[in-house]
Amino acid sequence: MTIAIYPGSFDPITKGHLDVLETGAKIFEKVIIVVAYNLNKKSFLTVDERVNLIKESVKHLDNVEVDSFDGLTVDYAKKRNATILLRGLRAVSDFEYEMQLSQTNSALSEDIKTVFLITKPEYNFISSSTVKEIYLNNGDISKFVPQPVSEYLKNKSIF
Ligand code: ADP
Repeated sequence: MTIAIYPGSFDPITKGHLDVLETGAKIFEKVIIVVAYNLNKKSFLTVDERVNLIKESVKHLDNVEVDSFDGLTVDYAKKRNATILLRGLRAVSDFEYEMQLSQTNSALSEDIKTVFLITKPEYNFISSSTVKEIYLNNGDISKFVPQPVSEYLKNKSIF
């Protein structure tokens, strides 16, 4: 069984992330989407909030598991017997960083291969940071994020 992990900040999960995940779930027998966190890095939502919102958004995907981790992605992958690292590519601007990350991970662990997926064009421009920006300025984010995320943020006090 080929197990893939899809690591990211998911702060919050967007429709772009979900599209990458849905395609990954069709290709691989199991996909573990993991909130990679760093306690020193400032985030918008807590790890628990991010994990819960992902869980609510992936209920329709039987072969997807949700988790979180702190540390090296390759160590987490090894622990979960995953051999594939799933990442999304939006634009050329993502490419350089993603290539560097992929090659670094390959240097750290020969067993891990990165697979890049591209979303549907309508989700290509979406990023967690623009979603946060729109939300913090009282804009409508429902087009960009799964329904559980827009519902949750509608009811969350930001002050
Ligand atoms: P990170 O902090 O690790 O970059 P993100 O949550 O921002 O975490 O993104 C996780 C992965 O999803 C990255 O590979 C990123 O390029 C990809 N991604 C984010 N948004 C989109 C999108 N709209 N379309 C395709 N891939 C995306």
